[in-house]
Amino acid sequence: MTLPPLTRVDALAAWDAFRPRITEYAARRNHVESGHRNVSKLSPALRHRLLTEDEVIRDTLAHYNFSSAEKWLQEVCWRRYWKSWLELRPQVWTSWRQRVRALHETLPAEILAKAGAVCAGESGVACMDVLARELIETGYLHNHARMWWASFWIHAEGLPWELGADFFFRHLLDADPASNTLSWRWVAGLQTPGKTYLVRLSNLEKYAHAGILRDRHGSDRITDGAVTPRHSPDHADLARQPLAALPTSLPAVAGRRGLWLHDDDLAPEIGPFAALTPTAVVAFTSERIYRQHDAPSAARIAALRTVLGDGIARASAHYRCPSTLLKTDDTATSLTEWACAHQLAEIVAFAPAVGPIQDLIPRLSDLLVRSGIRLTLIRRPSDDLAFSLAAGGFFPFWQKMSRHLSPPE
Ligand SMILES: Cc1cc2nc3c(=O)[nH]c(=O)nc-3n(C[C@H](O)[C@H](O)[C@H](O)COP(=O)(O)OP(=O)(O)OC[C@H]3O[C@@H](n4cnc5c(N)ncnc54)[C@H](O)[C@@H]3O)c2cc1C
Repeated sequence: MTLPPLTRVDALAAWDAFRPRITEYAARRNHVESGHRNVSKLSPALRHRLLTEDEVIRDTLAHYNFSSAEKWLQEVCWRRYWKSWLELRPQVWTSWRQRVRALHETLPAEILAKAGAVCAGESGVACMDVLARELIETGYLHNHARMWWASFWIHAEGLPWELGADFFFRHLLDADPASNTLSWRWVAGLQTPGKTYLVRLSNLEKYAHAGILRDRHGSDRITDGAVTPRHSPDHADLARQPLAALPTSLPAVAGRRGLWLHDDDLAPEIGPFAALTPTAVVAFTSERIYRQHDAPSAARIAALRTVLGDGIARASAHYRCPSTLLKTDDTATSLTEWACAHQLAEIVAFAPAVGPIQDLIPRLSDLLVRSGIRLTLIRRPSDDLAFSLAAGGFFPFWQKMSRHLSPPE
């Protein structure tokens, strides 16, 4: 498989190469082909915004009419929807993180050992083990394969969805707090109450490439009707929270400003910061903020370093100011020290989405206030719009969102 692109230049090239296949996307997307040429593999690039959804949507509509590209646009907007849904219910993310730690402390050793074996591709169901190994080796799984594997974990193996989601989060190069947590909740039957996703052998026979089913060992465990729904208790409060009001453009103020780039949005040259004249730009790699019980995979850490390095290189070319990628175990302290060293009056940044970066904000704000430095978080206008539309399910969201997806002038 060609690895997913991890720089903006590569992502743009991958998008150019994939765009002509959009008209076949609706018919082909569910097939798990060897090499995955029928899907874009743009998810790490979109998740970290090496490429923005707005760019992809605009360029799609510059080449195709809405109806011929609708399925593709809808899938791109699933990312927006999950992100917006979680933004309105941040406690669902917090609850998942707490549960991962609690399960490691409270589950019997034999259950944890079983979970470890299934993650290592040693469940004994050969087709599922192929998928676990593909994830570990490549950091990518096709959407349908993610659904099969998550369903196998929850409903066939009877393991807690939270630990399966943690395995994905540690290995996926596109690991995303919203898409991952909420997709696992969906498979478990928590996201759309009463609706679980059950893996069936006949569905694999229809959609999986030959390599996945070459070894049939253990496949009787997922034969049609063998997997039945397991009830997963919901530990999260689903009440909608008020959305913090944030500016969508940068107020013009005098003083030395530094730009903090983080892995939720690495396209500073597009949008609200395009005309910024920063004193300096910084980004941090921190393995620690992604660690729950076990560390993220080496491939995931390397990918994070690559996407952040790419963001910093582009920022340096765009702003022509000192731009640095630093390693830290304590992002809030390191960012404050960096701001002090550059004598900044203000740090500006894209508002992080619910997830590990947003979790840093309260402590960071506190440290900066104590150093007399302002923190200004800017939300992209398209995020602001999407967040306001995600009160209910995906289809009402899509109906409203699709009216805003206009072709370029
Ligand atoms: C259990 C489970 C866990 C998942 N975890 C993640 C995750 O951590 N990070 C992540 O980005 N996606 C996750 N997904 C969603 C989806 O599987 C991936 O976005 C998709 O497979 C990425 O591959 P692609 O870019 O080739 O997709 P394509 O088919 O080319 O789709 C284009 C883009 O649309 C978006 N998209 C497509 N399908 C979905 C979907 N079902 N949900 C949300 N966005 C979608 C993505 O941005 C994707 O890059 C998960 C799905 C499941 C079932």
